[in-house]
Amino acid sequence: MNIASDRILKMKASQTLRMTQRAAELKSSGVDVVSLSVGEPDFFTPRHIKEAAQKAIAENYSFYAPVAGYLSLREAIANKLEKENDLQYSSSQIIVSTGGKQAICNAILSIINSGDEVIIPAPAWVSYTEMVGLAEGVSVIIKTSKQSGYKVLPQQLEQAITPKTRMFILCSPSNPSGAVYSKSEMRELAKVIAKHPDMMVLSDEIYEHINYVGKHVSMAEFAAIKSQVIIVNGVSKAYAMTGWRIGFLAAEQWVVEACKKLQGQYTTCASTIAMKAAEAAYTGSQDCVKEMLEQFRRRRDLVTEMAQEIRGFEVEKPDGAFYLFPKIDSLFGAEYIDKNGEKQIIGDSEALAEYILEEAHVASVAGSAFLMPECIRFSYATSEENLKKAFSRIKIAVEKLRYGNY
Ligand code: PMP
Ligand code: GLU
Repeated sequence: MNIASDRILKMKASQTLRMTQRAAELKSSGVDVVSLSVGEPDFFTPRHIKEAAQKAIAENYSFYAPVAGYLSLREAIANKLEKENDLQYSSSQIIVSTGGKQAICNAILSIINSGDEVIIPAPAWVSYTEMVGLAEGVSVIIKTSKQSGYKVLPQQLEQAITPKTRMFILCSPSNPSGAVYSKSEMRELAKVIAKHPDMMVLSDEIYEHINYVGKHVSMAEFAAIKSQVIIVNGVSKAYAMTGWRIGFLAAEQWVVEACKKLQGQYTTCASTIAMKAAEAAYTGSQDCVKEMLEQFRRRRDLVTEMAQEIRGFEVEKPDGAFYLFPKIDSLFGAEYIDKNGEKQIIGDSEALAEYILEEAHVASVAGSAFLMPECIRFSYATSEENLKKAFSRIKIAVEKLRYGNY
């Protein structure tokens, strides 16, 4: 008998984490797997940040912190928002959480009632819809297209809004497509948002610093809608600190108070040592961020070029984040003979991801996990050597596929 709650039974497991787990299992059984599944920088956390954590341990930062996080960290974040984004938030309008993930979930659980609608442009990161489901909300998906660069258009947003809409989630730079909204594209969306003052905007800015095309734009920059915007960001991607689990949310006071109430009941506060490390990340030299960006840029150019050589992969050079998200539906229907001599058909993106894992030993994530089943996602946050190995193997594997007519 499965005695888990309906809430959990209804929830899908995270596909990004599932594929990563599969790759790790294959690797430990001796297979030379290249994992391009999870989105996490392969760099080590910069030294000055690690030293700050060591100092925090030595200085006994071992007691519960305030629910919203240390004041010094919130002040550092407020300062970052002012300096980098030209946005004024007081430290009391910020709450630090266990990763951007918890910050997003806090916001959704704090705002969404049963039956409330949350507009999510697809492709979308795997966890949004499941978090909305946890809050018993309804995800309203707007499908974007390759033609619009996988960006939602203002008229699409307008059409999706109903009296039940309570939230719109926008992720720029985007996971998984790498799309980066320009200031004028954001402004057009902001005009629509301004007409619906009861709708909150969750602006997921976790990839702020992985932007190859210009200065980051936050939805909160548009004064008319600033009170509707909830900024989520964190140290995972910018400072190669995924495992430290520090993210934050900046918003109107009532949102922060609601999140504090929730967080106070189920996690208390984020890790104290990690918070001290994050403080060093925000207050220290930002050279490490620029250095990592330049490496990501080189890797992006490399993988784009290599993937463009693969039959059936429709690839655009991404403007941000560290994912390649080729359209691959022209491969659907292709056949191959599996290890047991049986004929198999690539029916969808999951089957292609599975084939690439089995045949090329490269782990990816099927586009269906991001509500875009005609695509597949590869994270290129790994070494150039790994990327060359992975994409040359994928090319060979895809060339082995056969079509019905030959
Ligand atoms: N938003 C997006 C779009 C992401 O890809 C991630 C990656 N995990 C997160 C939020 C949350 O990141 P973290 O919890 O590591 O801060
Ligand atoms: N955000 C990363 C990804 O999409 C990390 C895994 C996760 O949190 O989903 O791969």
